[in-house]
Formats: sequence, structure tokens, C-alpha cells
Amino acid sequence: MAYLQLANIKKEYNVSRTQTQTVLRDITAEFKQGELVALLGESGSGKSTLINILGGLDTNYTGSVILNGQFLKDLTERQMDDYRKKRVGMIFQSYNLISNMTVLDNVKIAMKMSGVDDGRQTDRAIKLLKVVKMDHAALKLPNQLSGGQKQRVAIARALANNPEIILADEPTGALDKDSARLVMLILKKIAESGKLVIVVTHSQKVADECSRVVSIADGVIAQDVKAAPVKGAKGRMRAPVRAGGISSKNTMALAWNNLWRSRRRSLLVAIAMAIGMAAVILILSISSGITDYVNNVLVSGDDAMRLEIEKSDGTEFSDSEISAVEKLNGVAYTSAAVVSRSNVYYTYGNVSGTLLTLSSDEGALPSAISGEAPSEGQLYINEALAKDICSYDDYAEVVLGQTVELNMGNGESLSLTVAGVYEDGSSYSAFPCAYAARSVLEELYATVGRTLPQNKLVVAVESASYLSAVGEDLQTLGYTVSGESASLSDILSYIDLGTMVLTAVGAISLVVSAIMIFIVLYISVIERTKEIGVLRAVGGSKGDIRRIFLSEAAFLGAISGVIAVALSLLAAIVVNACTASLGVNIVSYFYGVYYIVGLALSVILSVCAGVAPASYAASLDPVESLRRE
Ligand code: ADP
Ligand code: MG
Repeated sequence: MAYLQLANIKKEYNVSRTQTQTVLRDITAEFKQGELVALLGESGSGKSTLINILGGLDTNYTGSVILNGQFLKDLTERQMDDYRKKRVGMIFQSYNLISNMTVLDNVKIAMKMSGVDDGRQTDRAIKLLKVVKMDHAALKLPNQLSGGQKQRVAIARALANNPEIILADEPTGALDKDSARLVMLILKKIAESGKLVIVVTHSQKVADECSRVVSIADGVIAQDVKAAPVKGAKGRMRAPVRAGGISSKNTMALAWNNLWRSRRRSLLVAIAMAIGMAAVILILSISSGITDYVNNVLVSGDDAMRLEIEKSDGTEFSDSEISAVEKLNGVAYTSAAVVSRSNVYYTYGNVSGTLLTLSSDEGALPSAISGEAPSEGQLYINEALAKDICSYDDYAEVVLGQTVELNMGNGESLSLTVAGVYEDGSSYSAFPCAYAARSVLEELYATVGRTLPQNKLVVAVESASYLSAVGEDLQTLGYTVSGESASLSDILSYIDLGTMVLTAVGAISLVVSAIMIFIVLYISVIERTKEIGVLRAVGGSKGDIRRIFLSEAAFLGAISGVIAVALSLLAAIVVNACTASLGVNIVSYFYGVYYIVGLALSVILSVCAGVAPASYAASLDPVESLRRE
């Protein structure tokens, strides 16, 4: 049984939609191991076409290629990858070295695709470079070599996975006489070691150095001059090998190498994307920072918050209206108590001033006092008022039991006994405020001929976080909302709105950067089409190519994410420095979750943007890619 058999191979190309060109009509031949075969033919006779079929790069033909009794057509795509990896090594007229990789890496790339470990890759690559006498140039780049030297490196690469067949497509076509002779000598030695070497040429001179000359013309084998196998040939068969795949470490290394090659472009794209991401992170941190500031600093702790509502027609609330309000989510209770903001003046001895609020809302009293409204004739005062009327350090004790006069500006005043001093947790704590029974307020209003407004309802909210929602609900019910907490509620809802708008702007910029990554990767695929062809030729599967590009996208996203985190931290420092006068950090440094989510989102977004270019790269036809100039 022949080692390699070609039976009735026919290949047509579609020239246009209706026209086809038959390049190979009926190729039938047998090859043995140890042969050095010249495939001779005019330019355009289909030599490269046949070589690509033998090399497993082109599977779109009729007829059979049979290796060791195994029909290539029967192999799965994966087995074809292994075939290209382990069975054949290809050499091209234009060398097809990867220009940004050193000579050593170019030889190693074939082994990388097979998952050989790195130490062995280097050892073997050096050994092979010695065979082709190129070990002195291991760390040079291809463009620092002459054509002959490049071709010798390409031969070393073809030998990397110790294939049984070497296919050389016009290896000496671009070389001077001496270089060509050296290359042919190397190929001859390879054949002598027991491999089948098929050399495509249109030069009779090259053909003369081979052990057998097969001529193609008009799509058939016109002549087959069989000579004895090369002297010393020892044909041997190897059991089919299951080649390993490219390791993820090597996938990443290749991806990183690609990014590094176009590092300026990569960095610019990463920065552009990072700016969008940093903006989103910053907006969310600022929004959380301000919300926290409002909730924790302006509003003290978990104290219930109070809103006051009024009906638009100014009438009193009915029981059903009150119970409707109490059913709202986040409402703790309602109270018909009154908080007066009309001018109420206090006098104590020769000290006098204006109260900011005089309230009868016992629910808002700190529990430390009594939790009940003061009884008639009594007054609870906050610390600010206690300090105002009594300059002693132990004001709380001194002032207890003393009499404070309240009036509304017309000389008529009420005398009240201070029954308690309370620590004020509200945002009014710096101003004099007091609590009195509802009847006291009524009496006080009567002194100026006014009746106490009955038309207000105090709505206590469970916690600050419900404030905006309850405020909105009350407005929806048609009530006018006011009170100490109403402005906070407005602030919080403005913050929410602002955050939403700004986040949307940030998100748009993220979409733009995703498109940018898409374009950059797409350009990169186009630029590296030939390289993709080489990777496929040395056994890289479609999946390998896709993974390399996706890894590239992931790296790009990760770099951009790190830059984004750095930028937003920097911006946080600047913003905080600018707003230092507020006494709090407007941007909290501790929203670590935004940084982590930002980083992860960068990677995810980038990988998503990379899916289409990576799939495009994987779908490229290897023959076409290698043909690309
Ligand atoms: P050789 O290597 O012997 O010079 P090729 O095998 O490269 O010849 O090409 C043989 C013929 O097939 C040529 O006429 C060429 O124009 C044609 N051909 C090769 N590739 C394609 C293709 N992808 N599409 C259409 N025609 C092609
Ligand atoms: Mg050709």
C-alpha cells in the first residue's frame, strides 16, 4: 500500500456566478516515504491548488487523498486540524513568517498550536534552527534576514512538529542560486531521513535535484519520471497521533503579543473606553456619596422623618383620607399635630429670641425625654435653646423648672415651665426649637386672634430611604407637601434623576467604545489575515483563532477597566479636594463594588464587541488568507 495516494482529484474554482474553471481534472498518483518529489508545471497549472489540498488547507475538491489508508475526506474538522499539525509541514514561496515575532518564536508557533510545553518548544526550535544553520539569528526579526535565510527558518518551522510529509510550494522561487541550492540540500536531507517531501517548482533545474519528477499539465499528470527513492531512505509509518491543542497560556501569550504589536492603538482605545467607564463609576459613586451624605449627615440616623401635607382646597383631612395616607408604603403613622413656623418669640429674663419651630408633634420627640407631649403649661426645649437662655455649662439642670415666656409679637405672652431639655437629632438642632401641647399652641395663636391651622397632617416616614417615594406618592394624591423633610425628599429625587441622566450618557459612551473595540479588532483581523492563514496551516483550529482574538478583546477590556478604576479614583480625589469645605467626601472611596463591577463590565463589554471580529477571523479560508499579499 502506498503511503500517500491521490485518486481522481478534481478541483474547480467558481470564476463568476455562472462560470467555473477546472484547474485539476483528474490527478492520480502514489507517493512513498523517503521520496523527494518535484511537482513540475507551468505557472497556473494548479500546483499550489494541489499542494493546498494535500496540506489539508483546502477540503473543497472531489476525488480522494488517502494517507496510510485513511481517506482525508472522512476526517472530522478536528482531525483535519491534527493532520495539519502533525502530519504535514508546509513551506511557501513567500516564506509567510510572522513579521513581529522573532525567528525563534516563528519556529515555536507551530509547537504552540500543539500544546508542547515551553521549555521543550525552545529546545526543539533551537535544534531545528541548527539543522537549517539559522541558530545564530534566533532572536532576529524576519525583516532582518535575507530571502534564503527566511526560507530556512520557514523550513525549521515546517519541521517543528516532526511531520511525515513536507510540502514546499516553490520554496526557491524567490531565491538566488546559492540560497536555492542550500534550501534544496536541506530538503534532500529531510527526504533522506524518511519523510516524503514534495517540492513544487516550475524550474527544471530544481526538478533535476529531485528523486522523482511529476509534471502537471492541463489538470492531469502529464509525466511521472520515477527514480529510485533517495539513497538511505528508511520509510517508516507512525501510528496516528492525537495532537494536543494550544494551551490557554499560549493563547493568551499570542493575544498579548498581538496587542503589544499595535500597543499605541490598543492603549488609545483602552483609554477612550476607560473614560466612559470612569465617568459611569464616578457618577454612581458621587450619587451614592451624596445620597449617603443627605441620609446620614443631614438626616440623623434612623430617626423617623416627617412630612407635612395640606389639601389644595385647605380643608381638613377626613378619616378615609388619613387612612389612605397611612397605607402608603413607608409611612409609619400620621398625626394631626401642628408644627408652627409662624414667628414665636421667647423671653427668659433679659434673654429673648425667635423659635424656629414650636411643635406639638409628640411622635417626633426624642424618647429620652418622655415620648409624650408635655402637659399643659409645660415646655420641652432643645439644647440650642437651653444654651441660648442659660450660659452655664450645666444649662440642662439650671434651666429645668424655670419659666419661659412665649409670645407672637403683640405683647400678650404665655408663661410655660421648662419640663425637659432634649438632644435634637434633626437638621434644626443648631436653632432654638421647642415642644408644647396642642392646647398651648391654640392659646398662643388666640393671642393674635388666629385659630390654629387644622388643615395640616404630619406624615411620619419610616426612614429617610422612603422619603422620596412617599413624597411623590403624596403629591400624586394631590396634596401639597412641605415640612422639614420635604426639601430633603426633593434633593434625593433630583439626585436620582441626575444619576439616571448622567449614567445614561455614560452608558452611551460605553456603547461607542464597544463599537470602537469592534472596529479595532476587525482592522486587526484584516491586517493579520496572512498570519491567520499561517496559524491555520500549522494546525490551528477555527476555535484557536477565535480564542486568540477573544483573549485579545478580554485583555483590551481588562486594561481599559484598570485605567477606568485609576481615572475614577483620581477624579474622586480631585472632586473631594474641591468640595472639602463641605466637611465630607462627596465621592466615597469605599464603593469598591463599583470598581469591581466597572472592571468586570469593561472585560465583558470588550469580549462581546470582539465576538464578531473573532468569528470572522475564525471563518477565514486559510488558502485565501495565505494568498493575501
Ligand atoms: P500554480 O500554483 O500552478 O501557479 P494555482 O494552483 O495557484 O497555480 O492556480 C491554478 C489556477 O487556478 C490559476 O488559473 C488560478 O487563476 C486559479 N485559481 C487559484 N485560486 C483561485 C481562486 N481562489 N479562485 C479562482 N481561481 C483560482
Ligand atoms: Mg503556485
